Amino acid sequence: MKILLHQCCGPCSIFPIEVLGEKNFEITAYFFNPNIHPIHEFYMRLNGAIDVAKYYDINIIVSENYGLEYFLDKEFYEKSKRCSFCYDFRIEATAKLASEMGFDFFTTSLLYSKYQNHNEITDLCEKYSNKYNVNFYYYDFREGWKRGIEKSKEIEIYRQQYCGCIFSEEERYKKQLKNQLSNRISSLNNAEAV
Ligand code: SF4
Repeated sequence: MKILLHQCCGPCSIFPIEVLGEKNFEITAYFFNPNIHPIHEFYMRLNGAIDVAKYYDINIIVSENYGLEYFLDKEFYEKSKRCSFCYDFRIEATAKLASEMGFDFFTTSLLYSKYQNHNEITDLCEKYSNKYNVNFYYYDFREGWKRGIEKSKEIEIYRQQYCGCIFSEEERYKKQLKNQLSNRISSLNNAEAV
């Protein structure tokens, strides 16, 4: 049975690939993540995804769709709903491609992350499974959280520090950077933050 695995990044796809391989699926990874910004980070993750596909010797389809402009247009007005929007367009694209290319199933490495909304992602997969008439393969890949981390370190896959969009990058670093700056300023006599 052929399965299209939406690959949000290299590390998150490790455990899903191992599970699907054990179940004898013929796996094709699909890197489609216009939500990853800025562009240097986008290509780091894309290359990490390719590294994982190469390591496990599976097929991979890569989209070089870098969607900052599109994402900002939508996000500017809908920031509070950004994750729902972000799941939706990636899962729909995966289900659509799986249907067009004649895959038996599709699934997503988003189901590996402990930090994503697992139930919402599952519901969206079911919705687009019905819309595009292609089977969705559900598995709670979160059970392999530790295994994925360890393996990604062992094979030296690029490991990102934030979810993907520029908003998540701000959330990840803002407090840390502000603290560093205030420590720096407080150590000087002639500098202050306004
Ligand atoms: S935080 Fe992550 S899931 Fe949410 S919008 Fe940003 S990249 Fe997408």
